[in-house]
Amino acid sequence: MGLLSTLKSIFGGGESPGAKKETESAKASAGPEKKPQTDMKEVSSVSNKITAGHVHMSGCTGCLVAVADNYGGLLTLLDKYVDWVYDLTLADVRHIPKMDVALVEGSVCINDKLSVQEIKETREKAAIVVAVGGCACYGNITRFSRGGQQNQPGHEAFLPIGDLINVDVYIPGCAPTPQLIRNVCVMAYLLLKGNDEQKKLAEAYLKPLMALPKQGTEACFCDLMTKVIDQGLCMGCGSCASACPVRAITHEYGKPQGQRDLCIKCGACYNQCPRSWFSFDVVSNYETILGAIRGALQ
Ligand code: SF4
Ligand code: SF4
Repeated sequence: MGLLSTLKSIFGGGESPGAKKETESAKASAGPEKKPQTDMKEVSSVSNKITAGHVHMSGCTGCLVAVADNYGGLLTLLDKYVDWVYDLTLADVRHIPKMDVALVEGSVCINDKLSVQEIKETREKAAIVVAVGGCACYGNITRFSRGGQQNQPGHEAFLPIGDLINVDVYIPGCAPTPQLIRNVCVMAYLLLKGNDEQKKLAEAYLKPLMALPKQGTEACFCDLMTKVIDQGLCMGCGSCASACPVRAITHEYGKPQGQRDLCIKCGACYNQCPRSWFSFDVVSNYETILGAIRGALQ
């Protein structure tokens, strides 16, 4: 029995105390008198689930931990919306099947033919490929690998998955928050199976994350400067500076400063920046989107 089946048999698909608390506080913040802004009945009653899987390339497994950190929310997703058809760790399935959504964690070791084959097979078998976390999106810490690990001395070069296959959605972060992964899963479901209104919401929510793969590794500090900092969107979090593999970004007076002569145009800073996928569509529909996600998870 896979770990997920075991968890489901223990919890019976119910919510953990933490998740219950989260739902209660979400309800409280929504206000007791507030009517839901979208009809979720259709979502709750849909029985044909989408199929999804987790493809583990070269990474630390932190993103999978973030998926699992949704606790009861994850079980609700699995009960109502998603059949988890592939996962070496959680579902104990060894061959990549056809699926609607592949969540890929980690970068690809190009010294390892099997890894290259696996990512190509993932692209062939999955309708939607999602790069989860910094390593899959832009290489992250695996860019610094120079090989020499005791058990894999020949593994010394790694590429983000977008350098080898077309990717549909990025979920940046090291690791991305459990809520962000959960929200993308719910929105992917609504995009594929929801009614017209829900599809529209899902599209608004996913659009900025779908735009990131197009930037891929071609973005540079100039993109960060013109599309984030100069627009007044920078909140001074420092994620861009910590993501830069050549230390071309310093953080002075609460704002990033770039040394453009050092920049290798890898796109890491832009993809890691939480404001690079800021969207006025999402902000103006925030309550409705939140209502749709809460409704789906109840
Ligand atoms: S080298 Fe640094 S500044 Fe240039 S794109 Fe990459 S992360 Fe950004
Ligand atoms: S990651 Fe984005 S928001 Fe954070 S400091 Fe850099 S530019 Fe500003």
